[in-house]
Amino acid sequence: MTPYLNNYLNGEWQATSTPVHTLSDPVTSETLAVTGGAAAGLPEAFAFARHEGARALQAMTYAHRAAMLAEAVKVMQAKRDVYYAIALANSGTTKNDSAVDIEGALFTLGYYAKLGSALGEARTLAEGAAGSLSKDQMFQSQHLMVPIRGVALFINAFNFPAWGLWEKAAAALLSGVPVIVKPATVTAWLTHRMVADVIEAGIVPAGALSIVCGSSAGLLDALTPFDVLSFTGSAETAAKLRNHPAIARDSVRTNIEADSLNVTVLGEDAMPGTPAFDLYVDNLVRDMTIKSGQRCTAPRRALVPKAVMHAVAEAAAGKLAAIRVGNPRHADTGMGSLVSREQFDSACAGLALLKAEASVLFDGTAQPLLDADDQSACMGPSLLGVRDADAAVEVHRHEVFGPVCSLIGYKDAAHAIDIAHRGWGSLVASIYSADAHWMAHAAEALATSHGRVHVVSPDVAKTHTGHGNVMPGSIHGGPGRAGGGEELGGLRALAFYHRRSAIQAPVNVLELLGQRSTELKF
Ligand code: NAP
Repeated sequence: MTPYLNNYLNGEWQATSTPVHTLSDPVTSETLAVTGGAAAGLPEAFAFARHEGARALQAMTYAHRAAMLAEAVKVMQAKRDVYYAIALANSGTTKNDSAVDIEGALFTLGYYAKLGSALGEARTLAEGAAGSLSKDQMFQSQHLMVPIRGVALFINAFNFPAWGLWEKAAAALLSGVPVIVKPATVTAWLTHRMVADVIEAGIVPAGALSIVCGSSAGLLDALTPFDVLSFTGSAETAAKLRNHPAIARDSVRTNIEADSLNVTVLGEDAMPGTPAFDLYVDNLVRDMTIKSGQRCTAPRRALVPKAVMHAVAEAAAGKLAAIRVGNPRHADTGMGSLVSREQFDSACAGLALLKAEASVLFDGTAQPLLDADDQSACMGPSLLGVRDADAAVEVHRHEVFGPVCSLIGYKDAAHAIDIAHRGWGSLVASIYSADAHWMAHAAEALATSHGRVHVVSPDVAKTHTGHGNVMPGSIHGGPGRAGGGEELGGLRALAFYHRRSAIQAPVNVLELLGQRSTELKF
């Protein structure tokens, strides 16, 4: 029987209703699961989480909640095979690409379990030292961070059904804040299964973890001022959410991760035949094809000195041609499918838009698919070439969410930085060179418009963590077009789920507060 993805609210599974949405295999079109439509009773369910979930979570210490996260990791580690099977069928990803999502989720949750255990038995976080407000030092001010009194609503994108939940929930639950997740419908099955496994294991208190599948209707209406909203998805949906009264009027704290025109830059010193050049090409091809380019961090613009454009194109095309695209069940498939036929159409439309101002350096869209037909959502990679970066417009503002990247020639370092900034804010920029001064200068300049700058020299060829990989100890988010949000970054992530208050008080009161608190150190 086709699984029905029931909502879990008020600490119980909700009744099955008429199926409204269907989740399909993007390669075979087989129906995999169904969801209902708009959820009933959301205001009551949010109130239940806010009161029951928060009360139970906040009765625990950080160390206690960290242990709860560690338990959740154990529970899910034991179910890995199920998760990989769901990802293969529903996301159309190869095992390696599914691992980015599934292992990334477990790693991030485990990372926060470890960080949290070091916070010990505290219940609040002290930020910095107290500062005196009086000549006799008796009256002082201490910035104290206390868990918020609301729920954390996560509205997530389709591309990371596992990591997208846990990279946010790790920090929220560690902070003592109940989570309500609304996964993107098209891939909601994996999120649903993981939530169900954690609930069934009985390791989170009632109201601490809830899920709504199939419809976002009414979710924002159920928010009250002390709640927080974390959204990952398109800039278009983000703009709608920003205008909702809960955010526009009631100032619900909101974090947004949206589109991103990430860049990867080849240094001026890295001529063909140098290790830095080879590293650049290897990583460019890998990063533009992992998860079929459906990573928010995938490089969309590859900036190289004009003089070596042809050499980069030739080397990258050779590697792209070697990647077989098709059914991820086939042993020779190196790159699986896009997530749905809708995404395929959207990526094709975006590719056509970019082609109007770029030439095609490598066209993988015409190559035969492995064990998949032209009704599948499989799409071969495309490398485009832009000679006149300054005249181009769409390449700097249209994100094709698929295996598509534009190679862009730059004149000098200043020009490269200028082109990078034209993305109006991105998640990540990477730099490949053997010249430390060039890299340091570029890193500083790129940091103004990128949440993360990933610098690679041949010395770290084997140890660097990858342009596209989001490491939980480093922040994830970007200014401007990327949404202006910030997640992860170790304990920095906890700030979103805490309220900072300046406690101005006699020193003996601050001493008492200090006994329940631990210093927040990054
Ligand atoms: P999307 O269409 O904006 O959907 C994102 C989420 O919002 C889904 O859960 C969707 O639910 C929900 N949603 C849609 N309309 C809504 C509304 N009016 N009110 C409340 N929720 C609503 O984005 P997507 O297609 O899933 O994701 C692709 C985009 O995400 C890409 O543009 C990519 O750049 C971006 N992305 C960014 C990051 C990042 O970290 N910066 C990460 C991943 C993806 P339904 O599925 O039920 O419609």
